[in-house]
Amino acid sequence: MPDPRYATPEYRAAYKAARQAQARGQWLECHQPACLMDDRTIAPDQPVDIAHDDSGTVILGPAHRYCNRADGGRRRHLLAATTSSVRRRVL
Ligand SMILES: [Zn+2]
Repeated sequence: MPDPRYATPEYRAAYKAARQAQARGQWLECHQPACLMDDRTIAPDQPVDIAHDDSGTVILGPAHRYCNRADGGRRRHLLAATTSSVRRRVL
């Protein structure tokens, strides 16, 4: 099932705008709060994602795909840690 965060008209519009800007040869800026690259510029030939805030509901803007996916992975990891500690308390 697709992630509902990526199925909103806002997300689609932001992604399309970013891709169109890249198609025109424009450089974008990474909006991920914790950018993992050397600088925040996104070259026209670099994979781009659209970053969300931590709640997953507010679109921040274009981000390096690498930064965006890494952040999501950390969040999933945190969630898993929280879930297992809750389970231990229940037992
Ligand atoms: Zn970045």
